[in-house]
Amino acid sequence: MNDCIFCKIILKEIPASIVYEDDQVLAFLDINPVNPGHTLVIPKVHYENIFETPDTLFGYIAQIAKKIAHAIKDGLGAPGVNVAMNNGAHAGQVVFHAHVHVMPRHEGDGYALWKGRAYKEHEPEDILFKIKQSLK
Ligand code: AMP
Ligand code: ZN
Repeated sequence: MNDCIFCKIILKEIPASIVYEDDQVLAFLDINPVNPGHTLVIPKVHYENIFETPDTLFGYIAQIAKKIAHAIKDGLGAPGVNVAMNNGAHAGQVVFHAHVHVMPRHEGDGYALWKGRAYKEHEPEDILFKIKQSLK
């Protein structure tokens, strides 16, 4: 992809602090970290999001994200790690090259997770039906 910033990082056309690299994935420090050590794991082939990424490759990205999570925990002394992926603009995706965030978390770092809301009456049955019907 010509104008994809992450493809340019893969091609070493723009610099990045590379944490890990092999023939399928690249992991590098996020330029605007939630906490120092925040790492992005991306496939070397351009796929836009989780929906486009082949299953096996996505599984491998998850495997490497886990390896990075261990390194962040052990190397940076982070007692917690968030692993997240934004898919689609409405989910907060800004760079449209699939990437998994691995974010170190520390006590009192000030971040809060999403606030949930309770289901309405009978809503779970309807939601469950719709999801299960669409499982392929
Ligand atoms: P998302 O909202 O999931 O699309 O997140 C995109 C992430 O990419 C953000 O956390 C940015 O800080 C990060 N980012 C954007 N450009 C670069 C870059 N050149 N090097 C490293 N991280 C970047
Ligand atoms: Zn790309």
